[in-house]
Amino acid sequence: MNAIVILHGIGSIIGFMLMVLVFKAKPSEQQKILFAGTVFTFMDVLGYFFELQSRSLEVTRLAVKMEYIGTTMGLLAFLFFTCLYSNHLHDKWIKLIKYFYIVNNTSILFMVLIMDYHTYFYKTMDFSIKDGLYLMIYEPGILHYWWTITITIMGILIAAIMIQSVLEHKGEKRPELILICAASLVPIGIWILRMTGVFGDYDSYPLSMLLTESFLVLVMYRYRLFDTVKSAKDRVIDEIKEGILVVNGRGSLVYSNPEVGTVFPDIEWDNKDMVDEQVFRFMETHIDGFIIKDRFYKWQSNDIFDDQQRKAGVLYRIFDMTDNYLYTKQLIELKEDAERANEAKSSFLARMSHEIRTPINAVLGMNEMILREAETDNIREYATNIHSAGKLLLSIINDILDLSKIESSKMEIVENDYNVGTLLLDIENMVSLRAEEKGLNFKIEPDVNMPKMLRGDEKRIKQCITNLLTNSVKYTQEGSVTLQIDCVDNKDSTVYLWVSVSDTGIGIKEDELYLLFDPFIRLDMRKNKNIEGTGLGLSITKRLLEMMGGNLTVESIYGKGSTFSFVVPQKVIGTELLGDYKKIADESEVADSAARKAFVAPNAQILAVDDTRVNITVVKGLLKRLKVQFDSALSGQECLNKVKEKHYDIILLDHMMPEMDGIETLHNMQQMDEYNRDKSVVIALTANAIVGAKEEYLKEGFADYLSKPIDSAQLEEMIRQYLPDELIEYI
Ligand code: ADP
Repeated sequence: MNAIVILHGIGSIIGFMLMVLVFKAKPSEQQKILFAGTVFTFMDVLGYFFELQSRSLEVTRLAVKMEYIGTTMGLLAFLFFTCLYSNHLHDKWIKLIKYFYIVNNTSILFMVLIMDYHTYFYKTMDFSIKDGLYLMIYEPGILHYWWTITITIMGILIAAIMIQSVLEHKGEKRPELILICAASLVPIGIWILRMTGVFGDYDSYPLSMLLTESFLVLVMYRYRLFDTVKSAKDRVIDEIKEGILVVNGRGSLVYSNPEVGTVFPDIEWDNKDMVDEQVFRFMETHIDGFIIKDRFYKWQSNDIFDDQQRKAGVLYRIFDMTDNYLYTKQLIELKEDAERANEAKSSFLARMSHEIRTPINAVLGMNEMILREAETDNIREYATNIHSAGKLLLSIINDILDLSKIESSKMEIVENDYNVGTLLLDIENMVSLRAEEKGLNFKIEPDVNMPKMLRGDEKRIKQCITNLLTNSVKYTQEGSVTLQIDCVDNKDSTVYLWVSVSDTGIGIKEDELYLLFDPFIRLDMRKNKNIEGTGLGLSITKRLLEMMGGNLTVESIYGKGSTFSFVVPQKVIGTELLGDYKKIADESEVADSAARKAFVAPNAQILAVDDTRVNITVVKGLLKRLKVQFDSALSGQECLNKVKEKHYDIILLDHMMPEMDGIETLHNMQQMDEYNRDKSVVIALTANAIVGAKEEYLKEGFADYLSKPIDSAQLEEMIRQYLPDELIEYI
C-alpha cells in the first residue's frame, strides 16, 4: 500500500481520537467549537483516505463530497474558535466575517453535494493513477476559483485575528495565545506551499488541518483551558461562605453546596423530599432569619427563569450573619450603655445643681440680710464680695443645668409673642453696666424698620444674645462692643432674626476656632487665666440656636476682635415697625416707677412653707421691709394645719420637701373646705430652675413661681402683684 494512503489511514485514526478526547472534555464554549472542528477534520482526512483508494469515479465523487463537508465546516469551526480569542469578538467586522463565511461555506458545500447535476464547481472530472495514487483529475469551474480565493482569504484572516490577539496581549503571560496563533499559521503556510506546486496533485489540506487541530487540542489540555471557566464557577459555588440551594420548577431540590450542610447538619441530603419539607418550610417560617447552633443566618430567594422567561425554579442563598449580628448587638448595647451613662450624668447634674442651689439660696439670702443691716463699710464690702461670688456660682450652676437639659433632650423651646424693643432694653440693662465698668463703648444698633413684635422663645434668644455680649465684654480690654439686630429674608409671616455681636477684643486664633463650641473648652488660657468662665456659654448658645432652627457663626482676627452672628427663624406678629426702642423704655419707666414705689402691707397674712429652717429665715428677712404678718411651716402637713386655722393672703410653698412635697400639699389643700371658702394665692418657691418649670407649676394649680435664690425685688414685686389693693400702703 502506498505510504501516503497509510499516512491518511493513521491520520483518520488520530482524527477520531481527537474527536473522542475533546468530546470528553468539560463542556464550555471552546469545547463545543473544538469538538465540531475535530469532527469535520476527521471527515476531511477520512474522505481523502477513501479518495486515495477509490477505484471508480462514483466512489471518488462520494469521497470528495465527504471531504468538502469536512473542509467547509471545519474551516468555519476554526474561524469561530479563533474569534473567541479575539478581543474584538463583538465588533461589527468580526460578525460580518463570520456571517459571510457561514453563507459562503454552506453554499459551496451545497454546490459540491449536488456536483453531479452541474459543472460550476468541476467543469470536468476524471479519474487516473499518478505516482501510484488514485487521484481525481478535474478542470475547475467558476465556483472552484471562487472557493480557492475565499478560502485563501479565510486562512489569512484567521491568522490575522490570532496575530492581532497576541499583539494586544503582549505584556501578559499568555503562552496559550501564542501557540494557538502558531497553529493557525499552519494551514495557510501549507496552503501557500501547495500553491507553489511542490506537492504536485497531492492535496495537503486534510493533513494540515489535522495537524492544526491536534495542536489546538494539545494546547487546550496543556493549559487546562477547557476547565478554567467551569471549574472557576464550580469552585465559587462550592467554596463560597454562603449556602446555595437550588430547587426546580416543581419545588424539589436540585443542588445544594457544602456550606448548606454545615447550616443544616441534621438533614438527610439524599432524601430530597425530606429536604424540601424540612429546609424550605423552616426558612419560609423564619423570614427575618434564624439561629442554629449559636450562629445567626439570614436568607434570600430569587426566582430563576429560563430563556423564554418562564419560572424554572428558585435559588435560595443562606448568609451567615453571626459576626454582623453580634457586632450590631454589641453596638446597640454600647449605645444603650452610653445613653444610660449620659442620662445618669444629666440627672446627676440636674440633681446636684438643684442641691447646690438650695444652700446658695441660703447663703445669698442671709448675705442679703447682712448687706441690708451692715453698719460698717468693711462688713458691707465682704458681703458684696460674697454676693458677687454667689451670683457667679449660681450662673455656673444654671449653665450646667441647661447643658444637661439640652443633652438629655429635655430642653423645650417655649414660644410666645414678644416685643423686640423690650428685649433690647433688657439686654442693655444687663450688659451696659459691665461694659461701662470696663470703659468699653457698648452700642446697640437695631434696624428701625424691622418688625416690632415677633413670636419665638424670647427667653432663649435673650440668653443667646447675652451670652455673646458678656463674652465680648469679658474678652475685650478696650474699644467697643456692638450689637446689631435685623430681620432678613422676609417671607410671609416668617423672618430670619439676624443678630451680630462684634468686639475689638483679643480675638481667637484660627487654628483654635474649631474648639470654640465644645463644652468645657476654654481657649488661649495663657491670656485668659484671670477671666472667669467655664467654657459652657458658647456651646449652650450654639445648641439652643440649633434647637430653634438657627445657626451660629464666628469670624475672628487674633488680636483684633471677633464677630459672632446668628440667624434664627421667628414669626412676625402684626405690621408695626420697631422704630426707636428707647422710647419703650421711657413709657415703661413711667409705668414701672408707679409699680416700683415702695410699700408696706402690715395687715397681709403671709405663710412661708419650707423644710429648711434657714430658708424660712431668709424669706422672713427679705419680707421684713414690707412689715407683713409672717408665719411659717416646716412641712406640708404643718402648712395644711395652719391653713385650717387661718386664712393667708399669700402662701410661699416650697416644692421639694420630704413626706409631702409642695405639689401634693397644694392638691390636698384644694380639697379642704377652709381653703376653698377663702382661697389663698399659692406661689411655688423652689430651687428647681429648669426650663418649663414655671409652666409645670402653673399647670399644677400654683398662681406663680419664684426660683431660689430669691431675688428680693422679684419677691416684693410678686407680693405687690398678688396682694389685694386694700392691703397695700405706698410710702
Ligand atoms: P467661657 O467664656 O465661660 O470660657 P464660652 O463657651 O462662652 O466659655 O467661650 C469659650 C471660649 O471661647 C472662651 O474661653 C474664650 O477663650 C473664647 N471666646 C468666646 N468669646 C470670645 C470673644 N468674644 N473674644 C475672644 N475669645 C472668645
